Amino acid sequence: MLDTARWRERLRGIRPRSLSARVPADCPRCGARARGGRPCPACLPAPIPTGDGRRCPVCARRLADAACGDCARRPPAFDRVVAAFDYEAAGRDLILLYKARRRFELSGALADLLALAAGAADPPLPGSTILVPVPSRREAILRRGFNPAAELARALSARLGLRCEPGMLRRTDGGAKQALLGRAARRVAQRDAYYCGPVPGGCHVAVVDDVLTTGSTLDGIARALKASGATVVTGLVLARAVPDAARSPARNN
Ligand SMILES: [Zn+2]
Ligand SMILES: [Zn+2]
Repeated sequence: MLDTARWRERLRGIRPRSLSARVPADCPRCGARARGGRPCPACLPAPIPTGDGRRCPVCARRLADAACGDCARRPPAFDRVVAAFDYEAAGRDLILLYKARRRFELSGALADLLALAAGAADPPLPGSTILVPVPSRREAILRRGFNPAAELARALSARLGLRCEPGMLRRTDGGAKQALLGRAARRVAQRDAYYCGPVPGGCHVAVVDDVLTTGSTLDGIARALKASGATVVTGLVLARAVPDAARSPARNN
């Protein structure tokens, strides 16, 4: 069970992996002094508690009603989503810094948060789980210089001791810019947007991404993975969009 106090306590216990991460530097969000450029305690997003009864057990969406209308209307191809925090407040700011402001060095600190959420997942991820990042559009990689999801997956692989296969999943084309599309159009655009080679039969794949917005990207990917042999597909994301802001994150990769 993760809660804010325990999350902070565990983060304090994580030994920074590089020398530069051990020296004092400014918090990327507020500028206060913090260890190695990591978010200061005040800028750490609130973790999503494991087994939070106010969330959809499949898509991790914060619920206003007893059940998730999205998953009931159209059951997704993925099995569940594990998210570290909601896409709001400090969590949204950190992701915007990482993606839009190209603060590449935040990947380690963000991967620590996601690793804690993945480690607390119930049921736990099997040790044979394969991590696969959501591929970026080519123009997004050229603009940013990196694929945010791929960097997260690589850092997660080291932290969780799970295999990472960045080449397993490909885009069929450049893909439409998701941020410009409505919910139904996103679903159609994502249906055939990904393909993958043979997947080890019966394997569990965890698809790594920064933000889960409507779930249409993960749904399209899960269809492709299951058609190629995956048995279970879990979404492993830093942030879950909150219902009112379902279209707000710039899904532009
Ligand atoms: Zn701060
Ligand atoms: Zn749901």
